[in-house]
Amino acid sequence: MGRKLTLDIFRYNPSAGWTKPGMQTFELEETPGMNVFIALTRIREEHDPSLLFDFVCRTALCGSCGMLINGKPRLGCKTFTRDLPARTTLFPLPLFKLIGDLSVDTGTWFRLLALRTGAWLHTSRAFAHSILEERMDNETALKIFEADRCIECGCCIAACAKVHVQDEFIGAAGINRLARFLLDPRDERSEAQHYEVLGSEDGIFGCMGLMGCMDNCPKDLPLRDQLAYVRRRMTAAGLAWGGKEDGSRNRKTK
Ligand code: SF4
Ligand code: SF4
Repeated sequence: MGRKLTLDIFRYNPSAGWTKPGMQTFELEETPGMNVFIALTRIREEHDPSLLFDFVCRTALCGSCGMLINGKPRLGCKTFTRDLPARTTLFPLPLFKLIGDLSVDTGTWFRLLALRTGAWLHTSRAFAHSILEERMDNETALKIFEADRCIECGCCIAACAKVHVQDEFIGAAGINRLARFLLDPRDERSEAQHYEVLGSEDGIFGCMGLMGCMDNCPKDLPLRDQLAYVRRRMTAAGLAWGGKEDGSRNRKTK
């Protein structure tokens, strides 16, 4: 027989006008290999079908199941109950719009971030499907791949003290995303154009460097390296141009 688990779960559905925020306690028996996703599914099937939470892939790839597990941003599918005490609290990730209970809307936040920062490849070259893909050197491709491993779960954003006090700060997820384009030789933006987006208190110079982001990234992204890389590049750009140029100069530094 498994342990008795007690889960204290935040309940509130803003779209059902009659509910009030509060905690609800559920008890269930732990089974081998149980993770928080399985525990919540059991609660929904056996106790309360109205419980709201998000899951898609269950393999730490979709980034949907970020939540506060005993106060720490974690993925529900990657968190095994055997690593938790017998009593656990679950809250939705802060900062994102609450859909209900443990479900939040991270998609809108990341979409607005992408629109605000131009987080896509900027190139004047037209896509031609008939020609072969260009090769990129392996070292650069691997660096870009490291940044692209981000699943946009929002755990680093929830863990970042700076985003809590300055909601325009793009956080580690935003800086990591833009590092990916700084690294990409196909991106034609100049240092001055990158500086316009990253060279401010809402960008890299707003980061306090305490690394709550990296400590809580479920994909173990090398965020310290990315933040340091972007800070170096943008410091050099700021010293070279004072961030005041119009971006017409298309020069990239290593
Ligand atoms: S950097 Fe890590 S914690 Fe932040 S959104 Fe990406 S995968 Fe999640
Ligand atoms: S190191 Fe920077 S991005 Fe990471 S949690 Fe701290 S302030 Fe946020």
